[in-house]
Amino acid sequence: LSFASCNLPQKLVQNIEAAGYEMPTPVQMQAIPAALHGKNLLVSADTGSGKTASFLVPIVSCCSHFRFEHLTDQKKPLAMVLTPTRELCIQVEEQAKLLGKGLPFKTALVVGGDAMPRQLFRIQQGVELIVGTPGRLIDLLANHDIELEDIRIFVLDEVDCMLQRGFRDQVMQIFRALSQPQVLLYSATISQDIEKMVSSMSKDVAVISV
Ligand code: AMP
Repeated sequence: LSFASCNLPQKLVQNIEAAGYEMPTPVQMQAIPAALHGKNLLVSADTGSGKTASFLVPIVSCCSHFRFEHLTDQKKPLAMVLTPTRELCIQVEEQAKLLGKGLPFKTALVVGGDAMPRQLFRIQQGVELIVGTPGRLIDLLANHDIELEDIRIFVLDEVDCMLQRGFRDQVMQIFRALSQPQVLLYSATISQDIEKMVSSMSKDVAVISV
């Protein structure tokens, strides 16, 4: 499997090449085609495995498809990635910008330490992807109108770490504000708690471990 054989937008394939990714990593080989087929996934993958691109490539592809085909007229966000920390969110957003360059793909960060009004304004101007921490997103949802009904892909990165930090209820609250999105969960280790969480989100989940 190569990136070029995944039926991705041409521009995305160019961005992948420009990033210096020649071959998909093992987790990308499994997760990218499955995610592109709309499957819900529970992926056990470590940092350094290429896990970030394994969810960002399908996200960029899905978002461009939606915008190019005008499947929605409004510019509501189409994908959301939650990570346990501000630093990780920043890294994910950086990689997302790189992969989405030249495509209808804008991103917004929703993390602590940045002015909330500015984050909200950016979302209301129209973005495809929101990357945030659960706590900050809950604050935003509680106090403001942000329209999440077009979110098609919901990613939880480092779920084990999120549960350790006590984010379970917040994550589930955010999930319930969405309209049955495709879910992609990533974790270094898969515990019973994580299996319970994913099965409360979907009954049909494929497990990938590399
Ligand atoms: P991650 O596991 O997502 O933290 O990624 C680890 C590093 O691998 C990041 O610096 C990525 O830019 C890089 N990377 C991701 N996919 C590939 C690939 N297919 N080939 C080479 N490097 C990659």
